[in-house]
Amino acid sequence: MKADIRKRTRTAHTGPSFLVRRARIIDVRAAGGYARVRIAIEGLSPIPAPGQFLMVRLPWGPALPRALSTLAAGPDWVEFLLKAEGALRGAMASSPRDAAVDLRGPYGVPYIERIDDRRTYVLVGGGSGVAPLLHFAASHPEFVERTAFGFRSRDVRDLLPEVDFACEDETGETAEDRLSARWIEGLGIIACGPESLLASVARRHRASPDAYVSLESRLGCGFGACLSCSISTTSGMRRVCVDGPLFPCSEIPWLG
Ligand SMILES: Cc1cc2nc3c(=O)[nH]c(=O)nc-3n(C[C@H](O)[C@H](O)[C@H](O)COP(=O)(O)OP(=O)(O)OC[C@H]3O[C@@H](n4cnc5c(N)ncnc54)[C@H](O)[C@@H]3O)c2cc1C
Repeated sequence: MKADIRKRTRTAHTGPSFLVRRARIIDVRAAGGYARVRIAIEGLSPIPAPGQFLMVRLPWGPALPRALSTLAAGPDWVEFLLKAEGALRGAMASSPRDAAVDLRGPYGVPYIERIDDRRTYVLVGGGSGVAPLLHFAASHPEFVERTAFGFRSRDVRDLLPEVDFACEDETGETAEDRLSARWIEGLGIIACGPESLLASVARRHRASPDAYVSLESRLGCGFGACLSCSISTTSGMRRVCVDGPLFPCSEIPWLG
């Protein structure tokens, strides 16, 4: 554990962001109901940090952009892991190479600014919720003790060959089962995925120190103006887009 004790503040994140930028899809791989989509964007600045998300829109797609967490990002590219369903994500998953896409962001508080850095963590992810956790693990390996990831289909291995995860259709094991087997007293938790997974983490670990869930709510603007993602917390109303998406389970008693 680190001697340098810094419990992060819970104020809204107001970091710099870019306005709408036209970018190009350069690679799409789809398998097991998910797609890994890589996008080229010249001079991406600031580069999204793990836990941040971009608001994404196809020029010919739904009027409202959708929030997508970064799986990875560099100075001129960004990569997403999408569930290949729905108006935007379904269309992106079957986009031809070179298709145009509009991005703006990055929004949300980087996970590293939210967590207690005296602790190391189990990362718990289900489905596309694994994306920001892989980004976090690649950028901050010193905070990652174990992972507990799960997908329904083994076919997703084609997209994430380097990642260890449970496949329900192979062994029946889920991310939740892995968490039960891998969490020990003293480890923090960072969870992202379907609401049922987050609810189970919150139910079981609300009293454990440093158990966090990354919430997915419907976002309108992404930068705190429309209030559509407001949630109630023990310290008042908060917006998932600017105060989150990561919240301590202890601050959202309604989850679970
Ligand atoms: C911070 C954050 C990060 C996310 N990261 C990922 C990720 O990495 N990968 C991933 O697959 N998903 C991610 N999601 C979930 C994704 O943004 C939503 O599931 C997405 O909005 C659904 O859009 P769609 O076009 O795929 O589906 P649609 O079928 O278009 O949408 C599903 C339903 O939601 C409605 N809807 C969608 N957006 C809005 C809105 N803004 N306001 C009101 N109604 C709306 C639609 O009208 C429709 O009824 C993330 C969500 C959040 C909040």
